[in-house]
Amino acid sequence: MNGWLSVRRNCGRIAGLAAWVAVLALAPGTNGQEASAVLPYLDSAIENGSPLWWDVVDRRTVLVHLLYDHERGAPNRAAGHVHFVFHAPSGSTWTIVLTNLHNVWNGRPGSVGRDIKVLSWSPDGRFWTPAFTTTTDTNDVRLEITMPGDTIHIARIEPYRLSDLDRLLESLRGCAGVEFEVIGRTVEGRPLEMIRIGPPEAQHHFVVRARAHPWESGGNWVVEGLVRRLVFGSAEDRRLLRRACVHVLPMANKDGVARGRTRFNVAGWDLNRRWDAPADPALAPENDALERWLRRQIAAGRRPILAVDLHNDGGGRLHVSHPEGAPESYFRRMELLEDLLRRHTWFDEGSTGSSFRNPGTLGEGWLLRFGVPAVILELNTNRAGRLDRPPTGQDWQEFGAALADVFEAYARLHEAPAEPVTR
Ligand SMILES: [Zn+2]
Repeated sequence: MNGWLSVRRNCGRIAGLAAWVAVLALAPGTNGQEASAVLPYLDSAIENGSPLWWDVVDRRTVLVHLLYDHERGAPNRAAGHVHFVFHAPSGSTWTIVLTNLHNVWNGRPGSVGRDIKVLSWSPDGRFWTPAFTTTTDTNDVRLEITMPGDTIHIARIEPYRLSDLDRLLESLRGCAGVEFEVIGRTVEGRPLEMIRIGPPEAQHHFVVRARAHPWESGGNWVVEGLVRRLVFGSAEDRRLLRRACVHVLPMANKDGVARGRTRFNVAGWDLNRRWDAPADPALAPENDALERWLRRQIAAGRRPILAVDLHNDGGGRLHVSHPEGAPESYFRRMELLEDLLRRHTWFDEGSTGSSFRNPGTLGEGWLLRFGVPAVILELNTNRAGRLDRPPTGQDWQEFGAALADVFEAYARLHEAPAEPVTR
């Protein structure tokens, strides 16, 4: 274990901090202004900044305490979103240590510290570079930095903010074959835009949802790549639209993204749980709106042939749940989807096994309640599959663009009469 971390586990940390502050205050020729110029500052009052507080532990170490968000009516809690601006003199070297990563997931305590092998940094909040971390034996995460200027932006993965979504939506305005529908509003009243690309009377329909969990910005980059290809690409790039229409809910948990939260909506609802029953319209209006939209689609004869819910974690994989009553054709289609992902994108992580279940996810709920083949696709934050390096937003956009090929091949195979996808 690192020496100073051993210290921080007992009262010696506080004594050490007090001693260092005293040194700053008493140093010959050091006044308050000079001392404050040495002390770093963390600014999380930025768009999508993560809730946190911090300690300056010594002259080169800052301990960042991430704050949990909590699920209503469950023991679950989550911290793991990271996004702030670090201020310190140019050229100075620091160790940033993230703590409070002891989450509770599906009722089980566990740390996400081991999952965070990579963070991203940027000099300006726009151009991001992944950087490897180390994890302590107490599951804190350490990042070593040398300041490239007086500020550096640090994030779990390349951020995608509400303003990024607004920019995307604005770029689509007036484009042929694209429509937005505000299908509802979040708990805090933000509009939930469903983007429709392609003709509503198309033979096949695909649904993509991103950002049910606000820290997981990778899904938004994937959506951006998919949407941009289908709207701005060549006729060949857009060939999927000859046989299919694609519906995208790009940011399901807008309130959580705005507030820099990790997992739940602001009423404490996990938007990727409790899909086994209709959502509470007051506590989960985001899911209620999506379910109502899906019911309208099905009533209009537009039952999706595939729904993909985009997430991030530290391992990747297609999460195929195996609930009782799932038709065998569903699993064959998920094998097909995995094969197409491997063929057309850099995906190489594979699927969860035949005993895997994650009740209440969109994947299970849409399959069992609506007969829609639906699945959770976890995008690996640490390694971009066959690219074999930490993924950037650009990598994920390219992955999203390639999803158009995956969907096109999937639609073609769906047309094979011997294999109905839905029940
Ligand atoms: Zn997730």
